[in-house]
Amino acid sequence: MDVQWLLVCHGLLTALVLVSFFCGQWPIFQGTFIQRIHFFITFGAYDNLRRFIYFACGSRGGNVMLSVEYYCCDRPNPVLQLIYLLIIGGTYYFIAKSSFSYIPGYYLSGMHRYTSFLAVGVAILLFLLTSFSDPGTVSSANFSQYISAYPYDNIIFSEKECSTCKIPKPARSKHCSICNRCVARFDHHCGWMNNCIGERNIGYFMAFILWHFLVCMYGVVALALVLAGRLKELKVIYILTAYYGIENSFRSLAPHVVQWLLSAYNTQILIMMFLAIISLLLAGFFTYHAKLCLTNTTTNESFKWQDYLQWQRKVKEAKASAEALKASLGELNQERKPQESKWIAFFRRSRLEELEVVKNNIYDRGFLNNIGEVLYPLSIRRSFGINKSKSG
Ligand SMILES: [Zn+2]
Ligand SMILES: [Zn+2]
Repeated sequence: MDVQWLLVCHGLLTALVLVSFFCGQWPIFQGTFIQRIHFFITFGAYDNLRRFIYFACGSRGGNVMLSVEYYCCDRPNPVLQLIYLLIIGGTYYFIAKSSFSYIPGYYLSGMHRYTSFLAVGVAILLFLLTSFSDPGTVSSANFSQYISAYPYDNIIFSEKECSTCKIPKPARSKHCSICNRCVARFDHHCGWMNNCIGERNIGYFMAFILWHFLVCMYGVVALALVLAGRLKELKVIYILTAYYGIENSFRSLAPHVVQWLLSAYNTQILIMMFLAIISLLLAGFFTYHAKLCLTNTTTNESFKWQDYLQWQRKVKEAKASAEALKASLGELNQERKPQESKWIAFFRRSRLEELEVVKNNIYDRGFLNNIGEVLYPLSIRRSFGINKSKSG
């Protein structure tokens, strides 16, 4: 019973930490303890450590800490890449060590020893492809190619020069301050990949998330089948009913079976819980990015649109209230028919309250074309190469 509770607490704690760390900043968690845990993990704990080091070691210790912080957060570095490899390698090692002796089993054939290895191999390959591929670096040699591929919309992108690279900044590109380069169709800088996610590797990145989700689900199902196989092979149900006299129904057998699994196979259950939580997070992350890809918007642009729409709404609000003020001043001057003017004012106000602002994304060319752009970037298509040579 003790082991059971320990495992439940461990599972809940793991779930809480992972959800808080990865999703704590999501709007649905605003003002909840999940957001507070997220703040503590991502900032509060570090801030306290920094204060402690300043207090204990003085400014010299503080300076060392600042240079470590600069190296880890503001410069390209492989820390998170190594952590990723450690997590995936460690998880696969624990699965192999704890469960490969039961494969082949009652429900799983021996083939899964190899397919699991292949699944992890492809996962690491996608990680390497995303990490070490060119995200679409804009240089003085290729900026015209990107400018012809991505016209300025003059809403969120207008013609300008990158103040660091001193080259024209194509629409949809952004200067990454960590990598110190301009990246075409910039999505975000990914610390796990130690690379920017841009026009040329967004496809690998999407494949990476989807594949990791599938691999985690595969792990959960395979481990569940290993445990189900053990249950069958060891005739647990038969022993429980025939020797211990437990009624042969799901309701009375379930608690005993769960207790037996938790005490005999706790490693597998912990790994299953971990994989299930990670796959849920990956599913959320993939849905978010898939939605962006289907509307041909990048993460960077989604923030730009948010700011633009907010600003537009404010401008419209200001215009509407100025008009309403003008109208009511006019009515005050007109003195006659006070009842009617109230109605007019009512209708006028309701008309003015239609402050709907629309997002006019010129890069959205229908979801099939949008998916096509992710899989086959515009700037490497022949048509854009021809445009480039004509203009140059
Ligand atoms: Zn730049
Ligand atoms: Zn970057």
